[in-house]
Amino acid sequence: MNYIDFKSPTGLAEARSMLKELGDRASPVAGSTLHVFLRDESPKVAVDILRLGLSGIRLMNGEYHIGATTTVSDLLEHRQPGWVLDRVAKAFVTQPIRNMATIGGSAVRVFPWSDLPIALLALNADLVITGDDERVMAAPKFFETQPFHHLQPGDLLTSVRVPALGAGQGFAYHKDRRTSTDFSRCTVAAWLALEEGRIADVRIAVGAAVPMPRRMEAAEEALKGARPGPAAFAKAVEAGIDTLRWKGLHGISDEFARHLASVLIVDVLTQAHEEAKGA
Ligand SMILES: Cc1cc2nc3c(=O)[nH]c(=O)nc-3n(C[C@H](O)[C@H](O)[C@H](O)COP(=O)(O)OP(=O)(O)OC[C@H]3O[C@@H](n4cnc5c(N)ncnc54)[C@H](O)[C@@H]3O)c2cc1C
Repeated sequence: MNYIDFKSPTGLAEARSMLKELGDRASPVAGSTLHVFLRDESPKVAVDILRLGLSGIRLMNGEYHIGATTTVSDLLEHRQPGWVLDRVAKAFVTQPIRNMATIGGSAVRVFPWSDLPIALLALNADLVITGDDERVMAAPKFFETQPFHHLQPGDLLTSVRVPALGAGQGFAYHKDRRTSTDFSRCTVAAWLALEEGRIADVRIAVGAAVPMPRRMEAAEEALKGARPGPAAFAKAVEAGIDTLRWKGLHGISDEFARHLASVLIVDVLTQAHEEAKGA
């Protein structure tokens, strides 16, 4: 990135009006960790959004409201009933990057190594965009394309809402990589709700080994109403695995990526089931 100026507004309205006025010549910056990866060399004004009061985690009516500039370290350190994003933050590359990167910056541009979008899909999060009006987008819609395409100049992602995990529910997350700081070869997450020993609802999300993070809806459908267990999980994955296009990264073939995903999804479903049972 080629920054020629840096603005530091202290309120949301001020930041939005700067971004609107500058249009394509400006870029919001939060943790600034992505900028080493961006190839755009056109001169830009950086508009810092860290002083807009958009940080913090609040539980309201069974839902966590997470301000867009909340850092990944904050997600890791937070402890409250039904809070699960610490498990995802733990997989996020290293502590120095966790200290800077924000949940908003991690959601707006998705890369194969991105952790949060997969978890937000499995948890059925809502993403709040503040423009001239406030728009709430469900995670599947938000991540259908690169999310920055949803934003006009002056629009900001201002918060992310994640339901707290309730009784009879479980969540699990796994990122497959060769070393703890390596890029992901396949990332999976599962959320599951039990009722009278059967699966009342389930969500499975995958990333890295597919071009964009996606839910595996055919497998979810196959599991609804089923008695949970390894055989049911494997059968459902078989039903859903070829509905997505698998892409091998970091030295693995497409076929291996498909196989890896099928094994990891059964693992996260098993872990989510254990948690839902109260284990
Ligand atoms: C070496 C390295 C390794 C990494 N490994 C991982 C990893 O394992 N897993 C992982 O998930 N991430 C990883 N990341 C971080 C990830 O790639 C992004 O850099 C990071 O998540 C972006 O967050 P940020 O707050 O720094 O955003 P920034 O870099 O400040 O911004 C990112 C983009 O989003 C826009 N933006 C930011 N906030 C908003 C907002 N609220 N509204 C609208 N637009 C906004 C910016 O304009 C910019 O285009 C890694 C980064 C580095 C440098």
